[in-house]
Amino acid sequence: MAVVGAGIVGLSTAYALLERGVPVRVYEQGAPGHAQSGGASRIFRHAHDDPRLVRDTVDSRAVYDAWSEQLGVQLISDDGAVAIGSAVDAKLPLLAEAGVKARRIDGRELAERLPLLAAYEGPAMLDERGGSIRTTAMVAALTAALGPRLVTDEVISVRPVGGEVEVRSGGSAHRYRSVVVCAGRDTDRFARSVGLSLPVDHGAHVRLTFALRGEAPASLATLQDSSGEFGEVGIYAAATPGNTAYAVGLSDATGGRADGSLLAAGDLADHVARVADYVRRALPGLDPDPIDVRHCWVTRLPWSEDGLAVWERDGLLFPVGHNLFKQAPGLGRKLAAAACGEPLPDALRPEARLGAPGV
Ligand SMILES: Cc1cc2nc3c(=O)[nH]c(=O)nc-3n(C[C@H](O)[C@H](O)[C@H](O)COP(=O)(O)OP(=O)(O)OC[C@H]3O[C@@H](n4cnc5c(N)ncnc54)[C@H](O)[C@@H]3O)c2cc1C
Repeated sequence: MAVVGAGIVGLSTAYALLERGVPVRVYEQGAPGHAQSGGASRIFRHAHDDPRLVRDTVDSRAVYDAWSEQLGVQLISDDGAVAIGSAVDAKLPLLAEAGVKARRIDGRELAERLPLLAAYEGPAMLDERGGSIRTTAMVAALTAALGPRLVTDEVISVRPVGGEVEVRSGGSAHRYRSVVVCAGRDTDRFARSVGLSLPVDHGAHVRLTFALRGEAPASLATLQDSSGEFGEVGIYAAATPGNTAYAVGLSDATGGRADGSLLAAGDLADHVARVADYVRRALPGLDPDPIDVRHCWVTRLPWSEDGLAVWERDGLLFPVGHNLFKQAPGLGRKLAAAACGEPLPDALRPEARLGAPGV
């Protein structure tokens, strides 16, 4: 088997093949985890608008636990995921239905879980088994586990030939029973080369990291703010390891084209200004001068910010979506199973529009 791309989806798929004892080669043109999967920390949250995706996230959390054990690394903090804003009331019943430990919290507990947040009395909830994903440690542990199976090489073409799939890369040409293309923003380019047109919205994104003022708290939850109380309705934030810094971003992305050009190059600078303003208003526990920045591409499906689907063609699998870090271990096992000939779960087929609310 082969996997194109060593971002978190490719690494997770390859590791899941390893768990099955299946030989695998992973092609990566750069450093593992340097593209959309780059930078410290991500939010692990169970809450989604689509109950199917809530269930998939519960499955993925269980795989995170198993891999933490196997790899000897804590992959998600124990600090929980907090959400504030009226959307909380719609999230809680879906979480209860899926058996997720989540509950409303009052202002006192909110201040405990998020000591750097300004006073806020509106709706707030805690997802107890959510938390901050240790992204760098996870990429390093999976890369180490794969060892020489991960090669630094750029894939130029993939092509179904005589019941197999041919992969041509900078330094070689090989054939495989099945190939999973986890090439992030390049996945739809490979799909087009085998006649598949994927409805991917390309965009660019920026996130800023701020140092905490004073002592690092023992526990620091992640944050999603849709309240508008502090001037924004799409804020997400997660602590970096050690809780000495907090990475804050807007869930918006600037519009882009498949050729890599941006619709409005100035948007990223606007987003930086909006995040900095938000931090000054909402997070007085942070030093307002950012200590780090993360720019990256994002690939979204038209039916939801959290949309996820897998296209299939003659031994090739093309997973596409956004906010995939939390889904990667569970998705990786499903892609490994499909690469080994098992049926792809119906919910992952494009027509299922996984992630769309109210489907
Ligand atoms: C700032 C930011 C914040 C985010 N926050 C969250 C969050 O809180 N929670 C969450 O779950 N998700 C979050 N996400 C989304 C998540 O990080 C991505 O969905 C996920 O990392 C995508 O992983 P991937 O493996 O699909 O893509 P990538 O990480 O982009 O990996 C694709 C890999 O393929 C390689 N590649 C491409 N073409 C070739 C080729 N021709 N030959 C060889 N290799 C190739 C690339 O070099 C790259 O390493 C966030 C993303 C960003 C950028």
